[in-house]
Amino acid sequence: MEVMSQITEMGHEEVVFFHSRDLGLKAIVAIHDTTLGPALGGCRMLPYETDEEALYDVLRLSRGMTYKNAVAGLNLGGGKSVIIGDPKKDKSEAYFRAFGRYIESLAGRYITAEDVNTSVEDMVHIFQETSHVTGIPPVFGGSGDPSPFTALGTFRGIEAAAEHKYGSRELGKLSFAVQGVGHVGVHLVRMLRETGAKVYVCDANEARVRHVVEKFGAEAVGLDDIYGTDAKVFAPCALGGSVNPETLEQLKCEIIAGSANNQLDTDATGDELEKRGMLYVPDYVINAGGVINVAIERQGYNKDRATHQVDRIFDICKRIFHIAGQEGLPTYQAADHLAEKRIAEVGKVRRPYLPSRRRPVNGRHTVA
Ligand code: NAD
Repeated sequence: MEVMSQITEMGHEEVVFFHSRDLGLKAIVAIHDTTLGPALGGCRMLPYETDEEALYDVLRLSRGMTYKNAVAGLNLGGGKSVIIGDPKKDKSEAYFRAFGRYIESLAGRYITAEDVNTSVEDMVHIFQETSHVTGIPPVFGGSGDPSPFTALGTFRGIEAAAEHKYGSRELGKLSFAVQGVGHVGVHLVRMLRETGAKVYVCDANEARVRHVVEKFGAEAVGLDDIYGTDAKVFAPCALGGSVNPETLEQLKCEIIAGSANNQLDTDATGDELEKRGMLYVPDYVINAGGVINVAIERQGYNKDRATHQVDRIFDICKRIFHIAGQEGLPTYQAADHLAEKRIAEVGKVRRPYLPSRRRPVNGRHTVA
């Protein structure tokens, strides 16, 4: 495996491999870019079959966090960590505390959070050894479940798309197809139904579908029928890759705006959406509510401030549509341009050296 060439090709600053002989913990932390601030991104735990697979995942995901944090207007760079292990067998207090000590050894250059197969409880163990962890419960000064904020940001992104497409952010007269009503989807359906809009839903978990049908008056459709509804807006809130050449043939919507990560199977699908005049709200922009919320933990958590910042996703999306229109780009590329521009511009602001102006807030250090 050509490790160094992979790292340099993707432009990473630092990649660290950790191994605890005593606990069998194997982890990789990738710090992609710290121009805007310390690298923040979640910790994913998977029984990766090969080291190459784990390395590729952490390199790709950490770079994605650089773009996501930059567009969200955060003073944070991009990073991510992967633990190579079986979440069903390997987890323990000691295992995550050991991981916390390794995070501490990076002296704040990387800040971790929950991701696939890591939980709030795991973060609490990490917190015993380092303060460079977010997504901890409110009783520890944290922000709790980020999903309602991710849903709020998604709702604001949908409003921005509606205003761009139809001249009004009023959603009540539109119709929606929400794919996946889990932690984020359930809140999104609630907010959409509160506007009076028609909402179709599907989920692989029937109990979750029943809940939103009974509680919010959504209309259930089959897993494969969600693409072909007459809804104006398709909101993928389940898995990645659900917008692809096959589903594109079924989709009748005019807007694609949901919380799922990696919604487009390839960039070519993003180009095709643009050709067909379907407005795609880039996934990492519209689903940034969760990361914005945990970022505010670093300043001493404040729910009103978190809500205010997440509301701004509306303006960020509008700006991306504007750039896309001005520069003749598909929206997914316009989002990347906005991220790169902010990193370049703010990077210059940080050039004059200032002696440390960081002050601990609630026992933590803030750079915001
Ligand atoms: P979740 O696991 O709680 O919910 C996902 C739901 O999708 C589940 O109910 C599951 O049964 C359903 N599902 C799985 N496959 C499906 C299919 N083929 N068709 C329909 N439904 C299917 O996850 P979540 O936290 O609600 O996150 C939803 C999406 O948003 C994910 O892609 C996640 O990566 C992304 N996201 C979440 C957050 C957050 O704060 N939770 C933040 C950013 C991005």
